[in-house]
Amino acid sequence: MIDLRSDTVTTPDGSMRDAAATAPVGDDVYEEDPTVTDLEERAADLVGKEAALFVPTGTMGNQIAIREHTSRGEEVIADRESHVVKWELGGMAQHAGVQVRMVDGDRGLPTPEQVHESYVEEDLHRPGTGLLCLENTHNARGGLAITPERMRDTADAAREHDVPVHLDGARVFNAATALEVPVTDLTDHVDSVMFCLSKGLGAPVGSMLAGDAEFIDRARRTRKLFGGGMRQVGVIAGPGLEALENVDDLGLDHANARTLAAGLDEISGLSVPEPESNIVVADVAATGHDVETVLERLADHEVLATAFGPTTIRLCTHRDVDSDDIEHALEGARAALDC
Ligand SMILES: *Cc1c(COP(=O)(O)O)cnc(C)c1O
Repeated sequence: MIDLRSDTVTTPDGSMRDAAATAPVGDDVYEEDPTVTDLEERAADLVGKEAALFVPTGTMGNQIAIREHTSRGEEVIADRESHVVKWELGGMAQHAGVQVRMVDGDRGLPTPEQVHESYVEEDLHRPGTGLLCLENTHNARGGLAITPERMRDTADAAREHDVPVHLDGARVFNAATALEVPVTDLTDHVDSVMFCLSKGLGAPVGSMLAGDAEFIDRARRTRKLFGGGMRQVGVIAGPGLEALENVDDLGLDHANARTLAAGLDEISGLSVPEPESNIVVADVAATGHDVETVLERLADHEVLATAFGPTTIRLCTHRDVDSDDIEHALEGARAALDC
């Protein structure tokens, strides 16, 4: 099977398993796990923030950030297709007591004008805007990479209203790789950033939330509230440290994604734009089959993908598939659909 459903399917390699076995550990709720502390310092450094917090999942990282930045009853401005809106079970309402003001962003990014229009000043009738949430790369828009200039302009619009900015950077290193900029060119414009160790970077578990030291202190307390205070968690942070070494490999995933997209686009009935990062979105409408049928046929030929939209499927490249696997996946897709 060539599993292209997600970059979360990567399994830990030998160096990660070794790191898990040998990491020095302690009770991280007492902040006595040296491996976690090391990971938090390295992660903060990488994204140019004062401090960072190790969290079990990206979802928890986003939810902690939203809760810390906002007060109950406020609004959060976010793109309508963003992960915090679509895929986190309405968590911002449940955990932070806030409501979302959705905008149809430009390539997934709310424009400065949309931020100004969406901003509400607190008064007797209106809740007040507490946060602007951005996402880069943008998952549900097909792995789009948003440039530092656009992030800056949108974040500046929020700052004009004293609204803080959180970045869901689950794949922010993919964005930096795609744009060929240092990741800090993207993270410098936001107050906090979450990124995943468990996706393209290949760690088995874990994400990082980074921001200023005072924010991270509060976030640590909220992590405990959410049940995410973990004990000898160096056994997971060790592989996380290894994952940080994999940032430079993401370009390979992007090259594989371009090869995959170009090959799929040649199959009659498939329409596949050139991907900007590691996410390939194929429109299957012209095959005459529905998405479920296409996915079943692909699976019959050893290729796993996921449903994306009403007529689209998603294929993600990652470090557990190499260029040979991509060729095999293309052979499988041709056999499955060229008929
Ligand atoms: C995967 C993902 C998350 C959440 O990460 P989990 O670790 O699966 O909870 C958040 N945002 C985006 C854009 C993602 O792709």
